[in-house]
Amino acid sequence: MISVGGLAPALIFVRNFERNYIDMSGMNYITDVVEKLVNKYDTRDPFELCKALGVTIRYKDLDKYMKAYFFYQSRIKSIIINNNVADVLRRILCAHELGHAVLHCELAMMNSFQEIELFDATQPAEYEANLFAAELLIPDDELLELLNDDSKSFFGVASELYVPAELLDFKFRVLKNKGYRLEAPLLSQSNFLKNDIGGCFDNDY
Ligand SMILES: [Zn+2]
Repeated sequence: MISVGGLAPALIFVRNFERNYIDMSGMNYITDVVEKLVNKYDTRDPFELCKALGVTIRYKDLDKYMKAYFFYQSRIKSIIINNNVADVLRRILCAHELGHAVLHCELAMMNSFQEIELFDATQPAEYEANLFAAELLIPDDELLELLNDDSKSFFGVASELYVPAELLDFKFRVLKNKGYRLEAPLLSQSNFLKNDIGGCFDNDY
């Protein structure tokens, strides 16, 4: 194991060379797709990426429970965002829908993606869109710097990154796949989410 960023011993994050190769291919693909997009367009801003990729974004007064949706029709990719959600959440929704636009166009031809439970990890396409959003919006270096500061809690880190705790949890899965592992304190904090997923997000609605 080696330290990240050459910081002192009480590290939250360490590199684990006994990495787990199970279920890597899908996650590696998403990591590669995001990296290529960010490098090509020189931005992590999902709105700018939508513009560059020709994905239209519109805002509508949707039902309270419908946060956003994505559909693909007549070769046009469209994201609709509920105009009642706060700006900080619009960015998350845009990144998630962009994930569908990039990864799931064939599926979207049959059915639109409608976001009610945004952080659903049980449906493969939703899981992938969340991994995409987490990877796009949370750069590794920024996150590792925050995590190596042991004064910060899991929720404090999420707050500093302007993301819901649930999205940070998805990013942890990506980092684990890259060969990092979490020390116990932060991991246990993230595990609270397994019992009450969605709560933090809904408070921001
Ligand atoms: Zn979705």
